[in-house]
Formats: sequence, structure tokens, C-alpha cells
Amino acid sequence: MKLTRRKLLLGGASAIVLGAAGYKLLRGFADESPEEVSQTLPPALRGTALDVHVHILGTGAGGTSCWMHDDMRDSIQVRAGLWNLGLHIDQPDLDARYADYLLSRMHGAGFLKQVVALAMDYVYSASGERQVDRTPFFTPNDYVARLAAQHRELLFGASIHPYRPDALEELDRVAALGAVLVKWIPNVHGMDLGDVRCRAFYRRLAQHQMALLVHVGDEQAMAIAGQEFGDPRRLVAPLEEGVTVIAAHVASLGSRDGRTNFEHLVEMFPRWPNLFADTSALTLLTRWRVLQRLAEHAEILPRLVHGSDFPLPPASSFYFGRIAIRDWWRAWIRENPFRRDFLLKQACGLPASIYVRGYEVLAPRLRSLAARIPTALA
Ligand SMILES: [Zn+2]
Repeated sequence: MKLTRRKLLLGGASAIVLGAAGYKLLRGFADESPEEVSQTLPPALRGTALDVHVHILGTGAGGTSCWMHDDMRDSIQVRAGLWNLGLHIDQPDLDARYADYLLSRMHGAGFLKQVVALAMDYVYSASGERQVDRTPFFTPNDYVARLAAQHRELLFGASIHPYRPDALEELDRVAALGAVLVKWIPNVHGMDLGDVRCRAFYRRLAQHQMALLVHVGDEQAMAIAGQEFGDPRRLVAPLEEGVTVIAAHVASLGSRDGRTNFEHLVEMFPRWPNLFADTSALTLLTRWRVLQRLAEHAEILPRLVHGSDFPLPPASSFYFGRIAIRDWWRAWIRENPFRRDFLLKQACGLPASIYVRGYEVLAPRLRSLAARIPTALA
């Protein structure tokens, strides 16, 4: 093919457009003022929402005891992801600045009242040994509990591997520190939800009225122990023990036995009233198709709970031509990832009720914590 001046110019222009779009895939341009944000929100959604799925990350900077595997530290996802937040992996105050960024964007989002900030436990072997080298990152329960004690906007989401020899003691301990739920990523952590140690853990969770937030479906962002651990049908074990279960990402990736994990999960809702699913990560590059399908499944909308999976970046570019151009532009232009995720979900027809449902699902636990506050202050 002969390169003409016209083709070169066209090529150059396309490179600039693609570059800008690529940049936009990760980081937006500008946020609305708080006044503009609140004007565009329905009154019922002004500062009322709970996001049940927000990650706390760090490198241990400032003595937080957070830790990240070298493979993850060096990965393009983490470097690009932090760049997206205006942060850098080697900065000496990373952990504190990450928390600052989270809080500032929460406030700027307009619709959020609180988020559940999540700890992340180490991987443990089947015989109960800690496996640091197989762990992508570690965020201690104590650090997240401290952040939640300092900031009313953060609720404490604990993480405890059920194969730890001290799993039940740790569960009692985080319960005393005010944890509202426990988060697992079985594909990464390598726990079999039907294991006898998990059964004991479920019974104790139910006693504390704490929910279990579990990643289901395949996992593509981190090193995995096995995708079979993310089979949504395995959730029957905690459901049988009476635990309130929130299936993360609506099992939006992967298939098993000829059906998608999403289909397996959808089938379970009628049988299990204590089963819910969060909408976290649905605006990502890999999962956006499921978001469009959700609005068609009217029967599961009452079980959906809002989650973002912050800091993972919503990929608004992929919605071009799929939602009204005005809605697309409003989401595309925004830097605030909470706001962008929210605008895309609104445009895809998810009902406003999902934003406050997290409070309904966690209500028994939140009530017992509220009742405890006078003693804690005394
Ligand atoms: Zn997540």
C-alpha cells in the first residue's frame, strides 16, 4: 500500500483520537461542581446510597501493614490503575493518599452516603498454612477497622480465610471491632465453600448477623487458585447455614457445565431469599454486556445491591452507541470513577432502589452495631 500524504494525515488524526480515547478509558477529564451533581440527582438519591464493594489497597507506606506482591506491584494494571487516581506505586505516602482520593471522590459523587471498605486476607493452603507468595495483595483488618473508626463514610468489611487456624477467633475479633461483613475471593483465596471449616465459619457469621460478600464467576484481574472455586452453585453451603450472601459481580464472567455462571446464579434466587448480588465491576471492559442484560431480568432486580469495585476503572467508551448519546457523554467526560459508574448504570436502566438496598441487606448487623455505640463511647 502506497502511503499518501492524505493517508498519513488520516493516520495521524486517528492516532490522536485513539490516544485520547485510550486515555479516556482510564481517566476522565473534569467533574461537575457539587451543585451541578446534586441538581442532576433524583432527591431520593442525594447522599443516601451505600456501595458494598470498595477495595482498600496499599504498600505499607506510613505503617499500615498493607502489602503487595512484586508481580502485582510491577503489573501494568496496578501502575495504570494508580496513575488513573493520580498516584504512583513508589510514593512514600501512597496508602494515605489512596484513602484521601477515595474519600474525596465519594463526596464528589453526590449519591453516596457510605461505602463498605474491604480488607483482603492472605491465601492459605488446605492445611491452613499462610501462603504469602500466592497472595496478590494483603490489606489488614486492623487497618480497615481504623479507617472506618476515623471516617463515618466507611463501613468495615473484614476478610478472613476460613482455613486459618484462628479463623473463628479472628471473626469474633473483627465483629467486636464493628465489621459489617466478610469478603472472600474463592478463586484467589482457594477456599472450597463446602469445606467443613467453612461450615463452622458460616454458623458464627450468622450468629454475628454478618453478611458474606463472595466473588463468584471467573476472576481475571488477579492470580488465581482455581476458577472452579467461583462456581455460584457453591453458595448453597453458606445459604443453607442461614448466612446473608452477596454474590459479587452477579457472577458475570465464565461458564460451567454448558451454562454461564450468570445463568446458574439467576436460577438460585427464587429458592434462596437470603441471596443477593452486587453490581460491582459491571461497567468494566470485561463485564459491560451483563450490565445491559440485567435490566431485562426484572425478577432479580429486587435482589441487586449497588457496588462499584473501586478502584477498578469504569470503561465508559464501550457504551458509545449503546446508551443515549447525552448520557454517554455525561459519563465519558467524568474523572470521578464513582460518578462514572453510577451514570452508566442509570443509563442502562438499573433502578434507583439498588443504591439503598445495601442498607436493607445489612440492616440486622447495622442495628446491633448502633445499639452498641453508647457502650463503645462510654
Ligand atoms: Zn472486588
